[in-house]
Amino acid sequence: MKTVILSPQSDKTAMQTAATLIKAGEVVGMPTETVYGLAANALNGAAVEKIFRAKGRPQDNPLIVHIADFQQIYDLCPHVPDSAARLAEAFWPGPLTMIVPKGDCIPNEVSCGLDTVGIRLPSHPMARELIRAAGVPLAAPSANTSGRPSTTTAEHVLNDMDGKIAAILDGGACGVGVESTVVSLAGEKPRLLRPGGITLEQLETVLGEVEVDRALYEKISDDTRVSAPGMKYRHYAPKAPVTAVRGAPAESAAYILAHAARADGVLCFDECAAAFAGLFVVSFGRSDDLPTQAREVFDALRAFDETDVHTIWAQCPSDEGLGLAVSNRIKKAAGFHIIEL
Ligand code: AMP
Ligand code: MG
Repeated sequence: MKTVILSPQSDKTAMQTAATLIKAGEVVGMPTETVYGLAANALNGAAVEKIFRAKGRPQDNPLIVHIADFQQIYDLCPHVPDSAARLAEAFWPGPLTMIVPKGDCIPNEVSCGLDTVGIRLPSHPMARELIRAAGVPLAAPSANTSGRPSTTTAEHVLNDMDGKIAAILDGGACGVGVESTVVSLAGEKPRLLRPGGITLEQLETVLGEVEVDRALYEKISDDTRVSAPGMKYRHYAPKAPVTAVRGAPAESAAYILAHAARADGVLCFDECAAAFAGLFVVSFGRSDDLPTQAREVFDALRAFDETDVHTIWAQCPSDEGLGLAVSNRIKKAAGFHIIEL
């Protein structure tokens, strides 16, 4: 299959072409404000199956369903919890996925046997235009080969998906850079399953106390049953092994300098880059600039794959605000191999 790049900015027919492909049961790479997604008609099990094949995604890892208007949630979910409407009011459209009880129209290919479904209303205009033009909700996981860092540009999607999907809608670089926050509203208490663009602190202003799933803090073995199956897999991983180093920036920089070998690489805060002269260095924002870190972290991890560094040492922010999402991605890239200083 030839993967076509569609550019709505220069080609007026691009959006319609993408929508026609979706209606025909094909998979299309779609920009969102978080990362690129691999989109297919969420109500068509055979189309959704193609997403799993293109990514090499484990069969027990369910997909998020993207909608363009809040009202669409009532078609997909029999009992929309009160809390969902309150969260939507505060944070939709935006980088927040809510797990709610699923309706019968959601095929098993999307929910992977769970009785819940993840729903998100993205803010990216092209994503919403595609959902509206296709006339169906779109199931879409991140547009990377399973296990690899998520993709934040059309070019990165092509690197991973060339020949495996019908088309990619080119919407430029993604704004947030890390995937959506995933919160479950299906249990007794709201529970954070994945940190993302909407912070835990923001969720708590609307919901009161939110439980945090233990998968955020520790490695979960493959045979464990977890609430967000996606969290148990090694994730976001560049080809070289990663060691995350947590602590004040000056301390973690000193630790890495003392331990790194000549053939190693370093993922570091901007202000620490000069200290690592001689090593392969990729910086991903100042230590006090979490939005930039979120936007850059996957690109930065991917950059090491162009080199033959032996080990990647990564400075890692603390868990406050957006730091929880950034440090979660780095810890997962490291397979939870973490040095706490
Ligand atoms: P991805 O789209 O690849 O960025 O991953 C989507 C994330 O949402 C994964 O961690 C999934 O396990 C999680 N997810 C999707 N649907 C559900 C669901 N019904 N219940 C729990 N987690 C879900
Ligand atoms: Mg993903």
